[in-house]
Amino acid sequence: MKLYNTLTGKIDKFAPIDPKNVKVYTCGPTVYSYQHIGNYTAYIYWDILVRTLRLNGFVVNRVMNLTDVGHLVSDRNDGEDKMEKGARLSGKSVWEVAEFFGDDFLTNFTRLNLISPTKIYKATDCIEEDLDLIRALKLRGYTYETSDGIYYDTSKFPTYADFAHLNLEKLRAGARVEFNQEKRNVSDFALWKIIKKGEKHDMQWQTPKDLWESEAMGYPGWHTECAAIIKTEFGDGTIDIHTGGIDHIPIHHTNEIAESEAISGVRLANYWLHCNFITIDGQKISKSLGNIYTFKDLAERDFSHLDFKMWVIQGHFTSERNFLFEGLAAAKTRLKNWRNWASLRHQQATAGKKKEIVSDDFGILKALNDNLNSAKALSIIDGIISRDDAVPTEDFLGFLDDCFGLELCETTPNISPYLQNILKERAIARLNKDFAKSDKLRQQLLKKGIDVLDTANGQIWQYHH
Ligand code: AMP
Ligand code: ZN
Repeated sequence: MKLYNTLTGKIDKFAPIDPKNVKVYTCGPTVYSYQHIGNYTAYIYWDILVRTLRLNGFVVNRVMNLTDVGHLVSDRNDGEDKMEKGARLSGKSVWEVAEFFGDDFLTNFTRLNLISPTKIYKATDCIEEDLDLIRALKLRGYTYETSDGIYYDTSKFPTYADFAHLNLEKLRAGARVEFNQEKRNVSDFALWKIIKKGEKHDMQWQTPKDLWESEAMGYPGWHTECAAIIKTEFGDGTIDIHTGGIDHIPIHHTNEIAESEAISGVRLANYWLHCNFITIDGQKISKSLGNIYTFKDLAERDFSHLDFKMWVIQGHFTSERNFLFEGLAAAKTRLKNWRNWASLRHQQATAGKKKEIVSDDFGILKALNDNLNSAKALSIIDGIISRDDAVPTEDFLGFLDDCFGLELCETTPNISPYLQNILKERAIARLNKDFAKSDKLRQQLLKKGIDVLDTANGQIWQYHH
């Protein structure tokens, strides 16, 4: 297996630390509003990653967080907490907002048929772990205090700029105007924020006396949360793969590395996978352009979660993609063709005897192993379908579902002998050009929840949606 690794800037052969078990961490969403379709692309790409690892025989131990506190409007720990802002805008309490949008995210995660992480941590459930991590950093001399929090002194971590190839000089020059005067270095960041008098922040915890002398309430910084969850789950060793969006490289992941490696002395992760962004009609997703589409918007236009999943896996995680509804319609058609083809496995009687496809003799997994080239894998499958001389077996469709999670087996039902008989009668009626009868039988099937289509391969059926 090969993967594009941000750490090395090239496509590397995947060599796991343990030959069998692979440790993966995925930065999860900040649950302050509905996630837009751009946000979900990441989780779809990483689903293909997890599926490919599994198909190569690895047991994947994947942890993901839900950020429900401390992610500020600017990633550099400035501005309002996104969660508090979400609460202010919706008129709900911040805890209600976290629960509502956290649940909404996980519902969509399930509808996309994404393999669930082994464990999902809410940031607010890990406050003690955050404080332990800050303590460990303090003990090693990496922290200092300002009036609004406990900060990480990035000058104490000599390789700070390496991961993202940062030009700290340039950063210093560019930040002069807004530079927080209490910070020692422009790249320093808050590990723990202190809530000042008069400041509104509903999520708050006591700051322990060994970290802050006076009585003060506070909350963790976003980078601290991920570093602490990784440490809690995987200990101080190196993990195999860490995933996120390209926007995480210069700040969030750079800071996670600074926190974790300062304590452990070893590399945080061997492989860093970052997905690129999607644009909509060639433009950045933004509120002012009104192009923030959610799955509700897609459903209103009759597109399912799996239609969108198909659209995403037609591309590559490292490429910027432009989303157009025409493109989504093409992905929907592709998925429909696949389903029709999948249903052929039940209808040898009407489709005629064809060769059976039992296993991946075509290089589908090989394409996925090549830096998760799902686009190539899909075109191989299109090739098989267009040959028209073979039908898939249940095992082969199961393999395709293992690769992509498009529910081909589930949505092409093996219907009862009674319904199969109606289909047979209908095929005969069509052969005899008795279209009145064939239409009547179609209605009969519809009443039982089955749609029938007539194709070059004969009748094909699926559940009526
Ligand atoms: P947010 O919760 O707003 O911080 O967004 C969560 C993550 O979604 C970001 O950190 C990005 O990695 C990802 N993201 C945001 N916009 C896009 C986009 N247009 N395309 C792909 N990913 C995106
Ligand atoms: Zn993270």
